[in-house]
Amino acid sequence: MQTNYLIIGQGIAGSAMALELLSRGKSVVVMSQSGKSYSSDVAAGVYNPINFRKVKYVNHAAIAVPLAKSFYTAAEQTTHMKFHRKSEIIRVFSGEEERDQWSEFVGNQQADFASSQTASEALSAKIKAPFGTGMVKGGGVLDTGMYMYAVRNFLQQQNLFRDEWLESSLCEFTHDGVNYADRIYAERVIFCEGHLGATNAIHHEIPVTPTKGEVVHVSIPGLNATEVINGPVYLAPLGNDLYVCGATFNPGKNDENISHEGREELVTKLQSMLALPFRVESQFAGVRPAGKDRKPLIGVNTMNDRVAYLNGTGSKGVLYAPMLAKMLADHLIEGAEIPTELNIRRFAKRHRI
Ligand SMILES: Cc1cc2nc3c(=O)[nH]c(=O)nc-3n(C[C@H](O)[C@H](O)[C@H](O)COP(=O)(O)OP(=O)(O)OC[C@H]3O[C@@H](n4cnc5c(N)ncnc54)[C@H](O)[C@@H]3O)c2cc1C
Repeated sequence: MQTNYLIIGQGIAGSAMALELLSRGKSVVVMSQSGKSYSSDVAAGVYNPINFRKVKYVNHAAIAVPLAKSFYTAAEQTTHMKFHRKSEIIRVFSGEEERDQWSEFVGNQQADFASSQTASEALSAKIKAPFGTGMVKGGGVLDTGMYMYAVRNFLQQQNLFRDEWLESSLCEFTHDGVNYADRIYAERVIFCEGHLGATNAIHHEIPVTPTKGEVVHVSIPGLNATEVINGPVYLAPLGNDLYVCGATFNPGKNDENISHEGREELVTKLQSMLALPFRVESQFAGVRPAGKDRKPLIGVNTMNDRVAYLNGTGSKGVLYAPMLAKMLADHLIEGAEIPTELNIRRFAKRHRI
């Protein structure tokens, strides 16, 4: 089979890359083995334009937020499935300092993401917020499981999906493409392997730090929240009194097993934020692919221009994947520059990529 691009990995990153390239009239084959890594499956799917810890916009918010909204809306139309919604995010302030910084931020900011509104009286009565609350208007939630299912289904219908593991030893590179096992001939291969990319033989050492995270699903009768609530942990509504509560953050850990410590940490933090009783229903773990400098990684290998990457989305895969897929497609198709701080070539010397 001949194709323009062979995409390895169909998590949040590979799904965005495939849809972006198809929307530009390019052909793709996506190869991804299920049951190997779970980051995109367990993600709460929240995207938030604000970094609450620093009380400022996240990097690239002005481009990434509108793009995420339009991208996932278009993906719903393409796949005829529903998995995305805009959502307000209620911030439970951690102290007086954050509250004061927030009021200054809301007073000065230009875009309309942060709001001077606070949580409703009804919600405030059910949470512990001694320093008050703030509200973010520009966020959203992606049902990541449903999204990936929809994209996979869409690709399968066109025979563009292979549920198998890419063996790097079966990739034969020529100056104009890659031959995979005499079965797939592609002009380029784009690796979207998440944290598993750290050990793939083709690129030696991709600069990703595996960062384990755990979430619990909790039932909270009577909370009736439609917004995401963000404090020492976040709560994202799933419907029927069920919420995702997350997430732990353990850089350097790459096992995907749920742990007692992870559950305890989340339960203790949730108790400090919630004035209602709750029950843990289930627990999940995954490993985020964080760039070594905590910034995403896109671009083309310096030693083999048939190899490209989209990785390093860390905790912000939902927000960043559409923007990164667009930037990488702009680069591959039109030769557009990739911003230096996102280009994987910033690690070329140290990591031989
Ligand atoms: C607990 C937790 C909560 C999170 N919550 C959020 C959140 O609310 N919002 C947010 O934006 N982000 C969140 N994240 C982060 C987000 O999940 C990641 O940014 C994102 O999932 C990374 O996606 P990816 O496609 O790069 O990697 P992955 O999800 O790891 O996908 C890579 C895929 O590639 C496949 N693969 C790899 N190598 C090969 C190969 N050689 N052959 C075939 N297939 C291969 C793997 O099997 C896998 O399916 C969370 C992460 C965790 C762990």
